[in-house]
Amino acid sequence: MSRDFSHVRRMVVKVGTNLLSSPEGINTRQLEMVVKNIVAMKERGIQVLLVSSGAIGLGARLLGRSTAVERIRLRQACASIGQPLLMSHYRLAFKKHGLVCAQVLLTRSDLNERKTFVNLKNAVETLLDLGVIPIFNENDVVSTAEIGTAFGDNDRMSAYVASKIDADLLVMLTDVDGLYTTNPKKDREGHRIKEIDRIDQSIFNCAGEAGSLFASGGMKTKIQAAQIASKAGCATLIASGYEPEILTRIISGEQVGTHLCADRRLSQRTRWILNSSAKGVIHVDQGALQALHNHKSLLPSGVLAVEGVFKAGDVVLINDTAKAVPYYNSVEIEAMAGHQSQEIPDLVEEARSDVIFRPDDIVFLDKE
Ligand code: GLU
Repeated sequence: MSRDFSHVRRMVVKVGTNLLSSPEGINTRQLEMVVKNIVAMKERGIQVLLVSSGAIGLGARLLGRSTAVERIRLRQACASIGQPLLMSHYRLAFKKHGLVCAQVLLTRSDLNERKTFVNLKNAVETLLDLGVIPIFNENDVVSTAEIGTAFGDNDRMSAYVASKIDADLLVMLTDVDGLYTTNPKKDREGHRIKEIDRIDQSIFNCAGEAGSLFASGGMKTKIQAAQIASKAGCATLIASGYEPEILTRIISGEQVGTHLCADRRLSQRTRWILNSSAKGVIHVDQGALQALHNHKSLLPSGVLAVEGVFKAGDVVLINDTAKAVPYYNSVEIEAMAGHQSQEIPDLVEEARSDVIFRPDDIVFLDKE
């Protein structure tokens, strides 16, 4: 199958911790190779956004640690030590090519909230217009899974970034040259999968968990990232960052790495609903669920219970099958659960709508 990336104008490149690490801290030769690759893309007129891991690992090594950093507070501390170091390496490397880079640190809520997202988009578009390379990382100092603001790993974060800024291609550079049928380090029979048209359970079965000291992701999170990107019409390439001129070879259509095809581009609003973390759950009965599948609105009579505290306009789960954006908050929906629509004005202070949400406000989740 031939690959055609001649249409690519905007690309997100994600670089993993493994690739950049050395026993001393950072592998500058490797980092310079990544930078050279990016410069080659810019020379072709392609805008590049870089997502780089490595802050926690660099911080940990500076503190003389050689074992995994698991304690959340220590991870936060290591990230704040390592992030400026990481950026100073990038700054020097880009400077050699006469280029300027910029730091963008993100939490998941920055992308979830419309206002912060619009601010972010404006800043990033301006950087790109100025010819600057934005370098993203998760803001690990403030963003932890415990407070529900984390992406968890930079694989998925890079896909959310690609989706939000409508990139055409997401390239995840790692220490292996693609997805293998079985782990090539353990099983010699395993072979590289070159093309994936559709991501299903059999693809996830090929993937292992994170395999290194300071990194968070693994092949599984890379496949999840490709799923997110594909819904934005963005193709994904998982490839080895050790191979020379890898981005040029990818863009030229060489059969390197694993190519996970793009799907139909869903609207930004649909993607926003799908990619936002749910703030609560509305449990509905089978009749209501069937009606939702048939493109009907959710009426209060179909609501069984509400979980969590959320505002009107937040993204919530509907049972475990869909995400939706209700007109009412959790307290109001609890008050109207099981009642008829005509009763809404008697049950809440402000009756903003006679339904909880409309068909445009719900997106069903893929069940693989
Ligand atoms: N944000 C983390 C760091 O810079 C890496 C997360 C990941 O490995 O995906 O160290």
